[in-house]
Amino acid sequence: MGRVIASLNAGSSSIKFALFHVGQDEFALAASGKVEGIGTAPHLVAHDAAGTILIERTWDGGDGLSHEALLQELLHWAAGHLPEHEIVAVGHRVAHGGLRFGQPALVDDALLAALEMLCPLVPLHQPHNLAVIRAIRALRPELPQIACFDTGFHQGRPEVATRFALPRALHDRGIRSYGFHGLSYEYIAHRLSKTEPAFAGKRLIVAHLGNGASLCAMHAGKSVDTTMSFTALDGLVMGTRCGTIDPGVLLYLQTQDGKSVTELETLLYSQSGLLGVSGVSSDMRVLHASSDPHAIEAIDLFVWRAAREAGALISSLGGIDGLVFTAGIGENDPVIRAAICERLAWTGLIIDAEANRRNATTINATGSSVAVRVIPTDEERMIAMHAVAFVMPAQRA
Ligand code: ADP
Repeated sequence: MGRVIASLNAGSSSIKFALFHVGQDEFALAASGKVEGIGTAPHLVAHDAAGTILIERTWDGGDGLSHEALLQELLHWAAGHLPEHEIVAVGHRVAHGGLRFGQPALVDDALLAALEMLCPLVPLHQPHNLAVIRAIRALRPELPQIACFDTGFHQGRPEVATRFALPRALHDRGIRSYGFHGLSYEYIAHRLSKTEPAFAGKRLIVAHLGNGASLCAMHAGKSVDTTMSFTALDGLVMGTRCGTIDPGVLLYLQTQDGKSVTELETLLYSQSGLLGVSGVSSDMRVLHASSDPHAIEAIDLFVWRAAREAGALISSLGGIDGLVFTAGIGENDPVIRAAICERLAWTGLIIDAEANRRNATTINATGSSVAVRVIPTDEERMIAMHAVAFVMPAQRA
C-alpha cells in the first residue's frame, strides 16, 4: 500500500485534484484530474501519471450536485480504483489567509472560523475552498487537512508595497494589498531554484496568465510586489474580471445608475475583462479564433495592460533580469507572449520567435538582456509539498 497526499483546488464550478506519492525518495504524481461544470452538468476526468484516462464521467441532470456530493463520488472512486493508494493527508488551496495566516496551517475549528471571516474578500473562491474542507471533515474526519494560502507568498513584501493611500486606520484594519496566486509563484520560485539557481536569485517578473491573471515581481525567490491586491480583482485584465479601474467608476455607477453592491460585484467579477470587452468570450482561444473586432480589441487591451503592469513592477524591482510565463495563456499562447514581449522591447528583451512558437522553455533570443522562460505551474504539487511537511516532516520534496 503506497501512501499519497491529496491536493484539492476548489473553484466556484470546479474541483482540481492530484495525488502524490510520499515515500523514501518519491514525490511522484499518482493521479490527477478535475470535476468541471459543478452546478450545471458535472464532468469528471482523471488521468494517471502517464496521462492515460482512468475515468471520464458526466452526471447528466446533475445540476443539483454540490461540491460535497461530488467529493464523495471522488473519494468513492479513488477507494475503488486506486486501492493501493492510501490517502494520508489532504492539502487545500485556500485563497485568503488574511494577516494572520501566511504559512500553511493544519485545519481545526478555530482556523475554519477565522478563514470564514475572509470570505467577503474573495467571494468567488474562499467559500468553495472552505466548503470542500468541511466536506472532507464530514466524510473522512480522521484525515489531517492542511490549508495553503494563495496570499502567503506575498507576506514578506516591503510594507510600502502593501499600503493603499488611505487613512492609516483602514490599513491597520487590514484594508491593504495581500496579493494572490501565491502557490503558483512559490512553485515557480521552487522550480527555478532547482533547475536554474543563479537565475532564480535574480530580479524576475512572473506572469501567471490564466482565467485569473496577475504578475509577481520577485527578487531572489521572494515576492517584492504583485498586481492583485486586496481582492483578486486588481491588476491585469482577466477572463471576466476587470483588473485595475478608477474607483470613481464605482461611485459613479452607484450614484448615477443606482447600482447595488451585488450588481457591482457581478459586473466586476463576472461580466468584465475579456468577456466584457469582447462580448464574445472570456476564453483566449475563442477570442483568437474570432474575427469580431471587439475580440481583437479585448486581446489588445489584455496585452497593453499586462505590459503596462510589467513596467510598473520593473520599477519596483529596479530593473529586470528575467520574465517567466505560466498558467493557461502563459504556457500555451505564443501570440500573447510575443505581443507582451514586443511591448517590453525597451528593456532590451528580444524574443526568439521560433522557440516561442513551439512553447520552448527558453524563448529569449541570444543577445536579449532579459531571459524569458515558459514554465508550467503546478499549484497542486506545491500544496502537496506543504502538506507532506505536516504529516511526514522528513519527506519534504
Ligand atoms: P484557471 O485560472 O481557470 O486555472 P487556466 O490557467 O486554465 O485558468 O487558463 C485558462 C486560459 O488559458 C483561457 O483563456 C484559455 O483560453 C487559455 N488557454 C488554455 N490553453 C490554451 C492554449 N493551448 N492556447 C491558448 N490559450 C490557452
